[in-house]
Amino acid sequence: MRAMNIDGIGMTSQRTRERLIRRLIAQGIKSRGVLDAIRTTPRHIFVDEALSHRAYEDTALPIGHNQTLSQPYIVARMTEALLGGGSLNNVLEIGTGSGYQTAILAKLVKRVYSIERIKSLQDKARERLRLLSVFNTQFKMSDGSTGWASTAPFDGILVAAAPTKLPVDLLSQLSPEGGRMVIPVGEADHQELVLVIRDGERFRQKKLEPVRFVPMLSGVIRDC
Ligand code: SAH
Repeated sequence: MRAMNIDGIGMTSQRTRERLIRRLIAQGIKSRGVLDAIRTTPRHIFVDEALSHRAYEDTALPIGHNQTLSQPYIVARMTEALLGGGSLNNVLEIGTGSGYQTAILAKLVKRVYSIERIKSLQDKARERLRLLSVFNTQFKMSDGSTGWASTAPFDGILVAAAPTKLPVDLLSQLSPEGGRMVIPVGEADHQELVLVIRDGERFRQKKLEPVRFVPMLSGVIRDC
């Protein structure tokens, strides 16, 4: 993969990053930890060079294979809801994509386990995190709807692709003591971001807001 510029994309970068942070605050993001993680994570290395000048706009960006790097507001909102004002040890992420959300999580929790179904996306994400010296993450190529049983239970599960209903395997891999899952659920034109909190065998659900994510698909893609 070509060399990446981690430090910044010139003088405008720091200013535009601060503008993004102010915008997230104006949109209701309160967690200082989440805002700091976004402030200190160079989003431009997670997209193609041709798009890097747009990396600090509050917008979703294409990452190839018909997939998108989520809008910063959504990354912030999901991460804040996942943490719930506390701290988490181990988090499962479904949909590594560019690795941007993985990098944000890695700054805020002890250990991140991230699953992706498209090999070339995950290979690039792995390389980016290595360049950023992020070492508390583990990656797996598989259909994330079945979770990662050998490393369960998880304090948190964050899902970046939308199933039409809550995957039972993911529910069962949440810690019974307050495990939290943030997940978009629904059909393409009607999805809700949902927070699920597990208490023993009870699963409380709270709808957070309408969202638009790529669908959760089955099977893996290894050769492209
Ligand atoms: N969090 C990512 C967003 C990626 S978009 C980022 O910050 O860039 C959603 C990702 O979910 C895509 O990369 C897509 O390939 C992946 N995905 C979709 N269905 C999946 C599944 N069943 N298992 C694992 N990954 C899946």
